Amino acid sequence: MAFAIAVPKIVSVPVLGGDPFPVHRIYCVGRNYAEHAREMGHDPDREPPFFFLKPADAVVPSGSIILYPPKPKDYQHEIELVLALGNGGRDVPAAAALDLVYGYAVGLDMTRRDLQSEAKKLGRPWDMGKGFDESAPCAPITPVAKCGHIAKGAIWLKVNGEIRQQGDISQLIWSVAEIIAHLSGYVALAPGDLIFSGTPAGVGAVKKGDRLEGHVDGLTDLVVTVG
Ligand code: MN
Repeated sequence: MAFAIAVPKIVSVPVLGGDPFPVHRIYCVGRNYAEHAREMGHDPDREPPFFFLKPADAVVPSGSIILYPPKPKDYQHEIELVLALGNGGRDVPAAAALDLVYGYAVGLDMTRRDLQSEAKKLGRPWDMGKGFDESAPCAPITPVAKCGHIAKGAIWLKVNGEIRQQGDISQLIWSVAEIIAHLSGYVALAPGDLIFSGTPAGVGAVKKGDRLEGHVDGLTDLVVTVG
């Protein structure tokens, strides 16, 4: 089939021991660890989950030098467990939600905190604070067949070798199954969707030259350098 312009390339994430995973959409969960909700000035007990998106081509592979975004004043790291969906669905009950998960990965929800904070204050969209170029570094995906479903285990981020963020997957306010159940009530989830599940406490700014190393127990580490 011919198209009017060159066909945009399919964005993909490497899979441990398999063919690459094609990315459809990138969803992100806000404030899904109590300590992080508190550090952002919110009460974690009263809020149902909420979601935002990044464009599919915000994904960059582990090992990359990631673009330091234009006009940044406060460019921050958020280390997250990423869900990669192999099946889709609408209104998926939590009891059936894990069937949608193809695998898991370590990801970074890179954030221009200054733009996000301004958007919150002015009641404007978060897109330029969250959905900019190269804002979604993602390590190779481990299929569920190899790692099982992830419900607990350490999650941490080191910057230049020093621990900045630390938590445990068991501290997620909304579990993997609950995230999928809620999100599929708003949109039809599809194979190829990635879901960034939220970040533990300790978010902070990075500068050019910083080396970011992210980890979740049982998965392949993510390493990127800010360029
Ligand atoms: Mn996040």
